[in-house]
Amino acid sequence: MKPSFYDLTYTDLETIVERHGFNNSVTPTLFNWFYKKKRNSPCHNLISKPALAFFERYYDFSLPEIDTVYESEKDRTVKFLFKLNDGQKVETVLIPFNNKYSICLSSQVGCAMNCAFCFTGEQGLKRNLTTGEMIGQFLKAWQWLAENRPGEERILNIVFMGQGEPLHNFDAVKKACEIFLSQFGFSVGVQKITISTAGYLPGLKRWNREMPGVNLALSLHSPFSEKRDELIPINRKYPLDEVLAYIDRIALNKKQFVTYEYILIKDFNDGPLDAEKLGTLLAGKSAYISLIPFNPFPGSRYRRPDMQTVERFKAVLDTFRIPTLIRGVKGDDVLAACGQLNSNG
Ligand code: SF4
Repeated sequence: MKPSFYDLTYTDLETIVERHGFNNSVTPTLFNWFYKKKRNSPCHNLISKPALAFFERYYDFSLPEIDTVYESEKDRTVKFLFKLNDGQKVETVLIPFNNKYSICLSSQVGCAMNCAFCFTGEQGLKRNLTTGEMIGQFLKAWQWLAENRPGEERILNIVFMGQGEPLHNFDAVKKACEIFLSQFGFSVGVQKITISTAGYLPGLKRWNREMPGVNLALSLHSPFSEKRDELIPINRKYPLDEVLAYIDRIALNKKQFVTYEYILIKDFNDGPLDAEKLGTLLAGKSAYISLIPFNPFPGSRYRRPDMQTVERFKAVLDTFRIPTLIRGVKGDDVLAACGQLNSNG
């Protein structure tokens, strides 16, 4: 099988172009064509015939196939079930805001982290996604918007919060970010990319060293170890206090915040004591809390609290002066909300 063109970073492509003696302009031209202009046809006449023939012969330009599209009637969220070359499937979500979109990308088929509140976690890890498959999710979603909602093909934020633990597939995710950030291609601003982690400390250390400026979101979900152990089993290996102590030592730039995700589960972690302990833990940090009322999925044992409870929880956090937003119920009618993704559609 040919390697995917979409696996190549700008530097990878430069190396190939140089090795084969093609003109230096081939690299920016290809990045401009496929990523800035987002064309899905060969770029005839823009690069030399031998260079075009070489890339067509040795690289695969196909994108993941859309298996099913689910459109929320409630809020215009779109969920894609993609079929990959080997038949595996992953989901990607476009979340609308003011006629623009955030895209939630998957980084693995299934996930090894086994979080108790997550549909993906129940499926176990099937395999890592390649860089090209992550870039492919973005390009296909963009093309779908261009065809189905013309004028709305503006995807401003990229969040690695779909299926998988992105820091557990670090190398491929890092390369995807390099491609998104390249000024010759997508040219996405570094603050527009967020990596979400369950607290996988080895990956977190690499993120800190190797991906400066890319935002971080930590799935916190309970300030109490016993409850967090139940929700996020890797808490037993990398306990929250160790993860938070490590994050505290990271030199964030002035505009950077760490987002702490907190899924509120009825009668489990949604009480005033939970809120106070959470506030105490995060007060004074460059923190931003994202409260997500639990999104049920088939067979889940947890339930969503009512909005009054959610508001009460937020009110306690407000007393600690931590910026807090309630979110994450968009697309729940098509199982596209946080924790609801799966590989079977
Ligand atoms: S919440 Fe994220 S890390 Fe946990 S099982 Fe689901 S996909 Fe994996």
